[in-house]
Amino acid sequence: MAYDLQLSHIGKVYDNGTPAVIDFNLDVEKGEFIAFLGPSGCGKSTTLRMIAGFESISSGDLLIAGRRVNDLPPEKRPTSMIFQNYALFPHMTVRQNVMFGLEVKKLPTADARRKVGRALDMLGLSEVADVRPTRLSGGQRQRIALARSLVMEPDILLLDEPLGALDANLRKSIQNELKLLQRELGITFVFVTHAQSEALALSDRIVVMNAGRVEQVSPPRELYTRPQSIFVARFIGSNTLISGQVRQVGGDAVSIETPFGILRAEPAAQPVATGNAASIVLPAEAMHVLPATMDEAEIRAHHGSNVIPCMINRLQLVGHILQIGMTLPNGEPVSLEGHVDKYRDLLSAGSPGYVAWNPADATLIVQ
Ligand code: ADP
Repeated sequence: MAYDLQLSHIGKVYDNGTPAVIDFNLDVEKGEFIAFLGPSGCGKSTTLRMIAGFESISSGDLLIAGRRVNDLPPEKRPTSMIFQNYALFPHMTVRQNVMFGLEVKKLPTADARRKVGRALDMLGLSEVADVRPTRLSGGQRQRIALARSLVMEPDILLLDEPLGALDANLRKSIQNELKLLQRELGITFVFVTHAQSEALALSDRIVVMNAGRVEQVSPPRELYTRPQSIFVARFIGSNTLISGQVRQVGGDAVSIETPFGILRAEPAAQPVATGNAASIVLPAEAMHVLPATMDEAEIRAHHGSNVIPCMINRLQLVGHILQIGMTLPNGEPVSLEGHVDKYRDLLSAGSPGYVAWNPADATLIVQ
C-alpha cells in the first residue's frame, strides 16, 4: 500500500551532539490526522521540521507518496507548515498574506485571486480581507495562517502547536473547526502538541514520544485502555500502577503476585513469561468501589474478579459526579470519579471498602 507519509528509522543528531530523535518509524495514510504528543524537549518539533524540510535528516528515509524526499528543499515538498506564532506579515493585509505564497510560486494572478478568495470564504475571513492582521483577534490570526497554508494546496499540512497561543475557549472552537476542515479537504494533518486533551480530541492516531523515541502509536482510546509502556501509563489518563511478579501465563489473562495478593490482567502487546517483573496498569475508570460490609464473593461475581481492600477517606459530590478519595493497603492514594447514581448511599467516608475491577480492563506491562 502506498502511504502518504512514511518515516523509516528516522534519526536526528544536532551539531552539538544532541540525539533529538532516535529510530522514528511511522506510516501515515492519506487523510489521517496524526498528533505528536509528549513532554517538552522529546523531539516533536524536530520531527515535524524534518518532515517539512526545515531540518536535515541524520539517518533513515522520509517518503512522501512513496518518493524519498530527504534531500528535497521545503518549497519542493507537497507540505505546508503552520507555526505557533503564525509568522504573519504585519505590514500586509489578510488577503496579501494569504496571496504571498502563490505569488512566490508565480501563479497567474487571476488564478491566485480565485484561490485566495475561496480560502478566505472557507475560513470566514472575507469581511476582514483588507484589514491588517495586527488588528485582528488570536482566533482570526490562526485562521489567516490556516488559509495561507491551505491556499498552497498541500498534500500534508504540518502544524506546530498552532493553538498554543489561544485561550481555552477559543482553542475548543478552533479545534472543532480544524477537525471539520480536515475532514472536508481530506488533507493529511500532522500536529505537534504537548496538550493531551487536544491530541485526544483531534487525532485519528497519536504518536507518544519520550526522550527522542516513539513510545506508542495508537488511536486515542487505546492509549487509555491499552498503554504499551510505563511512560504512557503515567503520561496519559489517570492510572494506578501495581507492581508484582508474573506467576502464571495462559488464556487471555496473566496471574501476577502483588503486595495485594494474586491479581489477573491482560498483557500489553509484548511477550510475558513466568517470573517477569511487571506492573498492572489500572485505569481509574475501571475501578468499582464497594463498602467492606458487602460480601467479597458477591463483589467478585458482579464487579470483577480482582478485589483489593481500601480505605475510603473522602467523598465529595459535584453535581452528578461523586469524587472518591481512598488509599490502598500500601498507603498509596487513589482518586476517582463516579456517577452519583452508581454510588448513591453505598459508601461512607472514613470506612473501609474494596476496589474491584475486571481483569480485562487492566493492562500488564513487563518491565
Ligand atoms: P519538542 O518539540 O518535543 O519540545 P524539540 O524537537 O524542540 O522537542 O527538541 C528535542 C531536543 O533537541 C531537545 O533536547 C532540544 O534541546 C534539542 N534541540 C532542538 N533544537 C535544537 C537545535 N537547533 N540545536 C541543538 N539542539 C536542539
